[in-house]
This record gives sequence, C-alpha cells and structure tokens, in this order.
Amino acid sequence: MAALQETKPENLPDSIRHYINGEWVDSVDGDTFEVLNPVTNKPYIKAASGKKADIEAAVAAAKKAFDEGPWPKMLPRERSRVLHEIADIVESRGGQLAAMESYDSGLPITQALGQARRAAENFRFFADLTVAQIDDAYKVPGRQVNYVNRKPIGVAGLITPWNTPFMLESWKLGPALATGNTVVLKPAEFTPLSASLWPGIFEEAGVPAGVFNLVNGYGEEGYAGDSLVKHPDVPLISFTGESRTGQIIFGNAAPFLKGLSMELGGKSPAVVFDDADLEGAINATIFGVFSLNGERCTAGSRILVQRGIYDEFVERYAAQAKRVKVGPPSDPSTEVGALVHPEHYEKVMSYVEIGKQEARLVAGGGRPEGFETGNYVAPTVFVDVKPDARIFQEEIFGPVVAITPFDTEEEALELANNTRYGLAAYIWTSDLKRAHNFAQNVEAGMVWLNSNNVRDLRTPFGGVKASGLGHEGGYRSIDFYTDQQAVHINLGEVHNPVFGKQEDAVEKMDA
Ligand code: NAD
Repeated sequence: MAALQETKPENLPDSIRHYINGEWVDSVDGDTFEVLNPVTNKPYIKAASGKKADIEAAVAAAKKAFDEGPWPKMLPRERSRVLHEIADIVESRGGQLAAMESYDSGLPITQALGQARRAAENFRFFADLTVAQIDDAYKVPGRQVNYVNRKPIGVAGLITPWNTPFMLESWKLGPALATGNTVVLKPAEFTPLSASLWPGIFEEAGVPAGVFNLVNGYGEEGYAGDSLVKHPDVPLISFTGESRTGQIIFGNAAPFLKGLSMELGGKSPAVVFDDADLEGAINATIFGVFSLNGERCTAGSRILVQRGIYDEFVERYAAQAKRVKVGPPSDPSTEVGALVHPEHYEKVMSYVEIGKQEARLVAGGGRPEGFETGNYVAPTVFVDVKPDARIFQEEIFGPVVAITPFDTEEEALELANNTRYGLAAYIWTSDLKRAHNFAQNVEAGMVWLNSNNVRDLRTPFGGVKASGLGHEGGYRSIDFYTDQQAVHINLGEVHNPVFGKQEDAVEKMDA
C-alpha cells in the first residue's frame, strides 16, 4: 500500500555527520542516533550525536573565523553576493531539498517545495537588507554629531525545531550571516537530514571555513543543545521551539547574560464574526490549522465563531475537513502527510482521546481508514469546546482544531486572550472598525485581518506571553544580530567640563 512505504529520495547520504571548520566529522566519542522515516517509522539513517566536546570544537572554529577571518570584515556588498549565491543554489535544488525534507519530516511534498522557496527568499531578503542598511546619526547643531556603528557580535548559537526545519534554519542563518557573525547550528534531532545540505551549499557559494558549523544531536542536559547554550564564547542564542524548552534555555543562559531571541509555542485564535465572508473564513481556517500537518506554530487551532453563524459554520467546516486529503508525503495530491515521529504522534493521539472526553467530535478522531501504520492522523474537529478544556488551552501541534461559540465581541476577546500563549490571531469580519479595535486588544504578537497567514519578510515576527521573547523579521533580526555602538563626536567646547563648573555638564551626562 502506497501510504505505508516511501520512496527514498535520490542522493541520500549514508550517514549524517557534524560539519566543523569546513570538514565533515564524527562525534568525538563516536556516538550516533537513529533517524526514523515517519511513514515506516523505521530508522533509515544514523546521525552523529553531539555533546560538549563537539560543541567546543565547533565554537572554537566559529570564534577563530570571527576573530581572524575575513567574514565579519567583508563589505556588506561582498557578503550580500555570497548570500544571493546561496539563494540561487537553494532555488535550483528546491526539488531535491523538498524531497529530502518531506521524506524526513512527513511534510507533504508540495508544501515542502513552497518552504524551500521561502528559504531561498530569506537569504535573498537579508542579502538585500544588509546592503540597504542605513545607520542612525543624530546632530546637535554646533555641539555634537553622534552616529551608530553596527557591529556583528560574534558566534551565534542557532537552535531549531523539527517543523519546516530547513526554512526555519534559513530564517536564522540569513540575518546572522548577513550581518557578519559566525554560527553554530544545532538542528532538531527528529529531522537532521535537510540541514546536512547546508555545508555543500555554503561551500559552493564561497562561505569561508569556520563561518558555518553544524552540530547534530539532542538538546537536553549534557547534549549538543544544552552545551551550546552554556558555552561562554557564544554571546547570542536564537531559539525556536517549545515554550517549556525556552524556559530552560532562559535559565541556562542567565549566568552568561546572553542575548536571547525566543520563538515559542502557540494556541492562536481565529475569530469569525457573523458578518464575515463565510466561504473565505472557512477556507482560511481549514488551511490555517491543517497545512504543514498542523505542525505549525502559528496554526489557528482555536476557532471562535459567533453564535448566529455557529451551526452553519460547524456543518460546513466539518464537511470540508473530511475532504482534506491525507496521504503519503511524497504524493503531490497529499494535503496532510505523516506526523514527524511516533513520539509526537502518540502525543497528538492522546489529545484526540482527551478531546473526546471534553467536547463533541464532528470530524476525524484518530487514524484515517486505510492507514494501518505510519504517523497518520485524520483532520480532527472538536466543537462546543469549553475554555477550560485542555484541548482549548494546550498546544497540540497536529491536525486537531477546537471550535467554540461566542455571543458578543467582548466575549470573543476574553476567549481569544484566555490562554498562556500569544503568538498569532486571525480575525474575520466585514466591520473594519471592529477588526481594528479587536486587533488592538487581542494578546498576540501578530494579527491577520480577513487573511490567511501570509507575512511580508519586512514585518516583525514574534509572540507575547508564553509565545516568545523579542522579535525577529526584517530590521528586528538585524538588531538582534548586531551591537549598536553609539559614537559621540564633540564639535564644540561644552562637553569638556572642568571641576568647579560641573553642574552644566553633568546635566547632559548619563550616569
Ligand atoms: P523543542 O523545544 O522540543 O526542541 C527545539 C530544539 O531545542 C531542538 O533542536 C532540541 O534538540 C533543542 N533543545 C531541547 N532541549 C534543549 C535544551 N535544554 N537546551 C538547548 N536546546 C534544547 O521543540 P520542537 O518539538 O522541536 O518544536 C515544536 C515547538 O516549536 C512547538 O511548540 C512550536 O510551536 C514551536 N515553534 C515555534 C515557532 C515560532 O516561531 N514561534 C516556529 C516553529 C515552531
């Protein structure tokens, strides 16, 4: 049966190793771990399991490349050319990349292709932005000129999750490298395959040895992720993953006072008022939770629907959810593929069982027919979900949605804000005044009005509450990956005080 086996993509490597200082290497202690294919759940490759010693080697290489190498000192235009070259290569290899990503993660191939294009675009965007960068200058006529000297910071530690791994890695690699930092990437242990393509791409594009380093392995204490966070020569950590992991990293980075950027979990509301374009709202909220297998941080996984249209919405939504095509990730007609790993599959299935106790099931509810093995979950819709239900409050990260009715705008806002998360919110209404007011008050880092989740790369990305710390995207990424040194130039005499007349001078000084 097609659903139960996947064709191996071409050019699969024999094993996955670390890449340090321009060389492929095994772990210092020789340790490896097995990577599973989500359709067969059988191990298909071994990856090197990094620990403290491997991180030390990678950080030493990255630090040397930063301290001595040409990369941080190159003109922005020169680095920009290399980044554009990376984008070209990623684009030209989109098919191969997507096939590997889909094989490793269970993402439908068409969606993996889109994510490969987005990865190329991330590099192109930061290649352009770094050349167009204008630094601030402040004049105090006749007295002072002050300007901002942006500088790369050093070795950036990049820790990424398993959902759309290649694209999320590009999102950090693009700005970190564009601004002249060197990096150590620790990709997620469930999906190391696509990250193993970066070294070849970077070498071909002309990135000098030591600028990009890759250490595979687990995140927990004693392993690669933890060792990267605790390394004293890594001043920046950009992390995307679960809120719980973010809390641990926050604690471990605290003694070093590291710069942290945290993109964390979500339980985002999609609010549908009774004056909304119903067809548009249903299509978007179906796509918003079931695309990328529902393994999507910004998934609109709680849908709040105004009472007047609730029954019609539920009926049409359930019917449409049942038509979403579950299938093998490599099949171009597949809309929902296989979840990434049996552990994650068990977690999602346990929420499906919890949901059956807490609410009314109108679509899905388990393994789809004809899929006896593999991590397949039918698009699952629970309705009449109460706000204290676990499926309303907790991030499931799979193709499972909770639908809840509301009467008034105030109630909708209260329900929307009634979780620990605050990543995204989606609002569907034809009343623009209401839409803008709701956007002002909803606790979410990003709001989409009458729209699917489509983001211009210049806009800030990030969450509030348990969904994140800081923003990336556009100039915010440049801010995170650079120091902004202020240089003050005296043009007059006022700022050369002598004791005895200090009052005037001290008035203008910082402590
Ligand atoms: P995770 O937190 O389990 O793991 C993420 C990464 O952190 C992995 O590489 C892992 O090895 C590493 N890690 C684990 N423990 C660590 C530790 N103690 N120190 C250092 N590194 C450690 O997350 P996941 O299950 O891979 O990804 C899914 C989660 O990511 C979801 O919660 C999702 O919402 C979130 N996510 C957020 C965004 C966003 O932009 N806000 C985007 C994608 C995914």
